Amino acid sequence: MNKNENHQIIHQSYEDISLQIHTRDEHTISRKQISDNALKVLYRLNGAGYDAYLVGGGVRDLLLKQQPKDFDIATNATPEQIKKLFRNCRLIGRRFRLAHIMFGRDIIEVATFRGHHQEAEKNISQQSKDGMLLRDNVYGSIDEDAERRDFTINAMYYNISDYAVHDYAGGVEDLEERLIRLIGDPETRYREDPVRMLRAIRFAAKLDFDIEEETGEPIEHLAPLLVDIPAARLYEESLKLLQAGHGLETYHLLREYNLFQQLFPVIAPYFTSEYDSHTEQMLDLVLDATDIRIDEGKRVNPAFMFAALLWYPMMGLTKQLMDSVGLSDYDAMMEASNIIIEQQIKSTAIPRRHTATIREIWQLQFRLPRRTGKRAYRLMELNKFRAGFDFLEMRAQIEGKEIEELAKWWGTFQTAGRNMRQAMVNDLGGAGSGSKSNYRRKRPAKSKAAKGNK
Ligand code: ATP
Ligand code: MG
Repeated sequence: MNKNENHQIIHQSYEDISLQIHTRDEHTISRKQISDNALKVLYRLNGAGYDAYLVGGGVRDLLLKQQPKDFDIATNATPEQIKKLFRNCRLIGRRFRLAHIMFGRDIIEVATFRGHHQEAEKNISQQSKDGMLLRDNVYGSIDEDAERRDFTINAMYYNISDYAVHDYAGGVEDLEERLIRLIGDPETRYREDPVRMLRAIRFAAKLDFDIEEETGEPIEHLAPLLVDIPAARLYEESLKLLQAGHGLETYHLLREYNLFQQLFPVIAPYFTSEYDSHTEQMLDLVLDATDIRIDEGKRVNPAFMFAALLWYPMMGLTKQLMDSVGLSDYDAMMEASNIIIEQQIKSTAIPRRHTATIREIWQLQFRLPRRTGKRAYRLMELNKFRAGFDFLEMRAQIEGKEIEELAKWWGTFQTAGRNMRQAMVNDLGGAGSGSKSNYRRKRPAKSKAAKGNK
């Protein structure tokens, strides 16, 4: 078996690993910047005789004078030993066994140093034939732990016992040069875990760093390896990529490296060299709007974003179904929604509660033109009306014409008083659909027949 050969490659020590220690007065991290809960955990571990370090994004972001998203801790205590020290501790993880120390809603993640595979007697690690790590639960020394981390800037450890920063891979220097650099041989590291390609892009966009040449070079042709990653993990990752404040920039970078195309295979066919298809305009609009909302501290809804990303591909398919199978536009839209969502969840497992909302937002686009009689009033009472209307406004910016008129109408209607509203509805004229839209819902019996003909 070539499994062993793979192991050989992976277990070579990387040349990039050599420890540099920056003592307390040689760096800018102060304990005041670390959360009380993280400090508690660090001190408790250390007090019990274990090594305890802050590691990863926490150290990186503090050195960059940014507020870390969370504080991760690494230690030589095993998960069982950690559990004995903390009443509020839960052991979790399938791929990696981790300890979560719970302080109400705040969770501090504590990981035991991970080691190399070959040194484990009972080999609890597994690898696929592509060199991908499947399971990974071997404990090791801090040096080994550092070697297994992804980027140099993520392999810095802040030691609670003397407040020094242990830099194993030249992360401090790369921070100064603003570079994303993988530890070890890039191709090997991407094959072990293809998600590292996405992480390279995520950090480059988030930190406004460049991707070092050798780290960037293999990505475009290794991008298809993402097909082997479970869709649930890619869904989580897609949120971190697109809904963490730098979505627009991240999307453009992902696309440049052929990665967006892997995450969203139903969108890729709508990409143009001019970047100006409706799909591409929508991506720019919704990701920009999302970034702004996050910057303003507002909540963002994944369903709204996915609805926008997939809308024009879904409409493209709707048109095809109307032409080829002769479905009404509403039935074709329903069918196209099923197909597009089904295809998309193969790569990113959007949870059902969100796919339900996506469908509602899409269906509303077909209902919002019908405003006569009591319809407009009823539509406004729907749970998802606001999302449907916001969505319509984005479409208006892209499509103009009737959609723009319609969005304006709804904008006015919502803020108008009673009399004005009634006048607006009356102005729409008699029966019919009340708009220039050719939307007309067919009777259910007929739509079933049409589906049956497929
Ligand atoms: P942030 O939390 O700000 O997104 P982070 O660097 O803390 O960034 P996490 O996903 O929280 O990222 O991971 C914590 C640390 O674990 C990383 O800094 C890195 O050292 C290591 N790590 C995470 N994912 C991987 C991976 N796929 N391969 C190797 N090391 C990883
Ligand atoms: Mg983190």
